[in-house]
Amino acid sequence: MGYIELKNVTYTYPLAEEPSVRDISAVMERGKFYSILGANGSGKTTLCNILRGFIPNFYQGEMSGEVIFDGKNLQEYEMGELASKIGYVFQNPFNQITGARDTVYGEIAYGLENFGVPVPEIRDRVDQIMELTNITYLRDKNPFELSGGQQQRVAFASVLVLEPDMFVIDEPTSQLDPRETERVFDIILKMKEMGKTIVLVEHKMELVAQYSDEVLVLEEGRLIRAGEKHEILSETGLQEHGVMLPQTVLLAEKMRNSGLKIKDGIITEDEMREQLVNIGR
Ligand code: ADP
Repeated sequence: MGYIELKNVTYTYPLAEEPSVRDISAVMERGKFYSILGANGSGKTTLCNILRGFIPNFYQGEMSGEVIFDGKNLQEYEMGELASKIGYVFQNPFNQITGARDTVYGEIAYGLENFGVPVPEIRDRVDQIMELTNITYLRDKNPFELSGGQQQRVAFASVLVLEPDMFVIDEPTSQLDPRETERVFDIILKMKEMGKTIVLVEHKMELVAQYSDEVLVLEEGRLIRAGEKHEILSETGLQEHGVMLPQTVLLAEKMRNSGLKIKDGIITEDEMREQLVNIGR
């Protein structure tokens, strides 16, 4: 049995005429890294909100089908229990920061305080998470006075400190420069190494190709592809379904068309480098 199982999930927002998610069935396994792709409006954010239990409870609307999470129907979890099992990271970190405390330390500690964790344990856990996310030097700063990238790392820290098993992360780097994007992906990679299950929406395809295990592709609310990343991302025809592909995939295709022997399923720069070294011999 999967860690998460979607069974024929269809969801329509209140007052909407058509469903935003249509008849999606999928199985996700614990500890794997899933990226969700698709054109704007294809239902990625809606699916994220279904996976973290916010739809239909919070948004209302009409949902049919079932979502099983860790052996139990998602609808049967208490909101508090769900918050400690599934962490959600927003696109805009500004929306994640509560402002309940005026230091980075306090902001990260806030969630643990709410769960009644003893103070010495809070101190240890917050210190540890600040190290992990490279924000120890921001400890006494006001979270609202940080750069966007720093805020995003604080947001990740405030979710990580609650030690959820699964993370749903919706376009975490869309407002960040390349350097800060790299820092955020360093954190995501550590989360993966910790064995967390990760569901990510991300438009930077090089990162998707490098870090994911599996890829899901949505089109107009339907799941049109799901599978191992090499298999899915090397399908150039997906561009006709509004999906961007990694530059490496497009380059590999061009090289094949011009008669070079590039093997199938090249999606990352490292894989391409290896191919070119072989050709050079
Ligand atoms: P994506 O994340 O892929 O851009 P969304 O999940 O945001 O797609 O949106 C999927 C569809 O649902 C779109 O047609 C969008 O207009 C619609 N939608 C999103 N949020 C709402 C809402 N709160 N109420 C009604 N329709 C919505």
